[in-house]
Amino acid sequence: MSETKPTPLVFIYDFDGTLAPGEMQEHSFIPAVGMKSRAFWKQSNDLAREAHGDRILLYMHLMLQEAMLHSLRRSREAFREHGKGISFFPGVETWFQRINREGGKRGLEVKHYVISSGLLEMIEGTRIYPEFEKVFASTFLYDADGVAVGPALAINYTTKTQFLFRINKGALDLADDTTVNAYIPKQDRAVPFENMVYIGDGSTDIPCFRLVREQGGTSVAVYDPAKPALEGRAAKLIDEQRVDFVAAADYGEGSPLDEFMRAVMDAVAARARQRTLARQTRRKRPALG
Ligand SMILES: [Mg+2]
Repeated sequence: MSETKPTPLVFIYDFDGTLAPGEMQEHSFIPAVGMKSRAFWKQSNDLAREAHGDRILLYMHLMLQEAMLHSLRRSREAFREHGKGISFFPGVETWFQRINREGGKRGLEVKHYVISSGLLEMIEGTRIYPEFEKVFASTFLYDADGVAVGPALAINYTTKTQFLFRINKGALDLADDTTVNAYIPKQDRAVPFENMVYIGDGSTDIPCFRLVREQGGTSVAVYDPAKPALEGRAAKLIDEQRVDFVAAADYGEGSPLDEFMRAVMDAVAARARQRTLARQTRRKRPALG
């Protein structure tokens, strides 16, 4: 039975700087509250420092405060609207179907996830949202009238790794704290780490890069193709053995990133085939003695 089960392969993406340039709040939300991006981030980082707080919680707080001040709607739908116009790195919009097809040819069942410190609502508003099996991102708490009143979930760079374990163990429901912490033998986990590819762009991805790589998966750092100066920063991650590959965030067919991912798919498929053959040999072999 296990021979016919397709081999899972999951691609897990950071969002800002990985799939889309810049920070998602800068696209239309920050301009809508009449601020410059730098001033917004400075203010939220200052708040975090002064409060000895969490930067993610404080940017969410500042968003709500500014939205109130400017009488902007604070519904889930309004935040989704701010995600609608987000543009992506080259090739992103055709990437998912292409990779799914290439994986299928190799007997792999490909799925895509996002783990982001950005806002779930904004990602929900993007054109690529339907491509994801699940998006883990920070999100607001809404009152009975559907108005955002505070943060419900804030994902920072260290809590990001929790979601890798959720994917690994198949505990995708955030209300379920039992499965994610339960002991599950490696071979029984929903998606083994070696069948994971983590793609990120920055220092906030380092805990995920390391975890995936140390557990036998693949970590890839990307940089904005329009800012080749960032290549050096990303390349440093290879030197420090935190990632397996560095490339421009060009997801187009034939790009270095595309080529590398095909090679990863070849390797995952080859490993699965090796195991199948080994199992078949074991079964055919007459018992010794
Ligand atoms: Mg990023």
